[in-house]
Amino acid sequence: MDRQRMVRKQSAAMLVDNHGREISYVRLAVTDRCNLRCFYCMPEEGIRYLPKKELLSFEEITRLMSILAPLGVSKVRFTGGEPFVRKDFMDLVNQVSGIDGITDVHLTTNGVLTAPYVGQLKEAGVKSVNLSLDTLDRERFKTITRRDEFDNVMDTLNLLTKAGFKVKINAVVMEGKNIDDILPLVELTRDKNIDVRFIEEMPFNGEGSHYPVLTWTYRKIMDYIKLTYPNIDKLKDEANSTSYNYRINGHLGSIGVIAAFSRTFCGTCNRIRVTAQGTLKTCLYDNGVLNIRDLMRTGQTDEQIRQALTQAFSNRAKDGFEAEKNRGTGVGVSESMSTIGG
Ligand code: SAM
Ligand code: SF4
Repeated sequence: MDRQRMVRKQSAAMLVDNHGREISYVRLAVTDRCNLRCFYCMPEEGIRYLPKKELLSFEEITRLMSILAPLGVSKVRFTGGEPFVRKDFMDLVNQVSGIDGITDVHLTTNGVLTAPYVGQLKEAGVKSVNLSLDTLDRERFKTITRRDEFDNVMDTLNLLTKAGFKVKINAVVMEGKNIDDILPLVELTRDKNIDVRFIEEMPFNGEGSHYPVLTWTYRKIMDYIKLTYPNIDKLKDEANSTSYNYRINGHLGSIGVIAAFSRTFCGTCNRIRVTAQGTLKTCLYDNGVLNIRDLMRTGQTDEQIRQALTQAFSNRAKDGFEAEKNRGTGVGVSESMSTIGG
């Protein structure tokens, strides 16, 4: 982007980074706690959850959103951990939905506790729900998540589609775990208007372990799907989309692949992440660049916080590789995704 356009944007008090990318979307991890133990996200045992007082309070989250909205952030996604394990989570959804300028409210959930809240989510104006579901096989679900909750998740899926939600299924593709699920998940799109998105596995598993080379890259996932479904059309991806999207001829829904590890989407990244303890991440792969909670708890004014946010984005890594490198020698990503929110 040329310098003149960048300056024009900045003077309109939008949040724009040093590479000219406008920031309009925040992902809020509302808790690091979870009722599943997906093996790609968390170790089975020995997780040390944050003390509750270290989490951003609902008031602090609402205040942050009220600071961000006038800076051009209009879209928010609640994530976690599992949002519904946080007490009174729906109160937060309603508070944030009511903020002037917040026009798009979305949710990512594992679906275990979600079913009873489907009506309230609709009333709160939540626009879409991403449901994590890596397999359609009950036993494999147990192996992957280390919990026997498959039926609850399927109930949630059915209720969400009946209630008319735009539903995206997120499925992490894992060698030796759910490759046999790729085609059945694609089949779900035949009669249901849902999007099934296959995600490259990332090393955010809380254990620091990862395959030396990622086997199931987004390209390999698509090549594999095309062997069975050669009649597949590329769809036009939305601006700032992290997925490459396709529709199989005759299917109601669509499929997508997210190159989360290959990091092909950084050039148009419009998002902020705020972790459960209130740390700002300007990139999924960075180590956290600003402690918003401490700013709030040491009495900083809204204007001071706004300036700190603007400053943080004036020094943003170009892409996920640079952000990971900036963490320091030998300190690759290994934290659990449950603190970041995906
Ligand atoms: N608990 C909720 C859920 O599972 O939908 C929200 C939080 S979860 C961290 C958000 C997303 O991150 C999920 O779709 C999950 O599949 C994805 N995720 C977690 N760990 C991952 C990893 N190591 N690689 C790729 N995706 C991951
Ligand atoms: Fe929990 Fe979501 Fe992580 Fe699974 S991916 S352990 S559901 S936070």
